[in-house]
Amino acid sequence: MPELPEVETVCRTIRPHLVGRRIEAVEVRERRLRRPVAADFARRLEGRTVAAVDRRAKYILIDVGDGLRWVVHLGMSGRLCFGTPPPELTHVHVRVRLEGGGELFYRDPRRFGLMLLSSDEADLGIVGIEPLGPDFTAELLWSLRLRHRRVTVKSLLMDQRRVAGVGNIYANEALFEAGIRPSRRVGRMRREEAGRLVESVRSVLERAIEARGSSLLDYRDAEGNPGEFQSSFHVYDRAGEACRRCGTAIRSSVIAGRGTFYCPRCQT
Ligand SMILES: [Zn+2]
Repeated sequence: MPELPEVETVCRTIRPHLVGRRIEAVEVRERRLRRPVAADFARRLEGRTVAAVDRRAKYILIDVGDGLRWVVHLGMSGRLCFGTPPPELTHVHVRVRLEGGGELFYRDPRRFGLMLLSSDEADLGIVGIEPLGPDFTAELLWSLRLRHRRVTVKSLLMDQRRVAGVGNIYANEALFEAGIRPSRRVGRMRREEAGRLVESVRSVLERAIEARGSSLLDYRDAEGNPGEFQSSFHVYDRAGEACRRCGTAIRSSVIAGRGTFYCPRCQT
């Protein structure tokens, strides 16, 4: 599933192709995504010019003027691709042709993604704090511990209502870097550990963006390139392999239904 660094990478790769371009034609080939694509989606988008491409949490927000945003969420398996769609068009649900040539298309085999037009970010229901923004601080994390002392630190990091965009991969990696065991209860976190965790989350996300995300199954950016951060994983999906820092075998467990990986020596 694309997490924040992958969505940020998609934004960065579509931005130069889209900004300043006029949308000539939109074809919706399949409306049944996580929510149905609105009947007037194509008509409202056609003829508009893209002013900006931004990201909030795991949403791609494409400003098409007059306060209207074309919103894309990649769900589990969604891809926005720039170029020529495959001839058989399997799983290509939306095609957007740009004036003067070029096409952006949306492909999503599992159809958990979203495609909509919105004039109010509140429609998206995002309430969590942006982990790369100024509000994600040690003070914030420290204050959250009062109401969440019994949940695990990993569950708190992945709770999209608190912190938006950190998924399973980057929660595992950030906890390794902070030296905190994923199963630790929030109430047992020390003040300086909250500070270390905030720094680790930021650092892992920034380095993953730098490496253009992680390609595990089929993630590709909008130009078809895989990410490279998977080769830098310290713990994720490395059960039984040696910790890169101390040589101890990485262990795995399940927290909140998700694969959890940690070094029993480096993380306490
Ligand atoms: Zn270790």
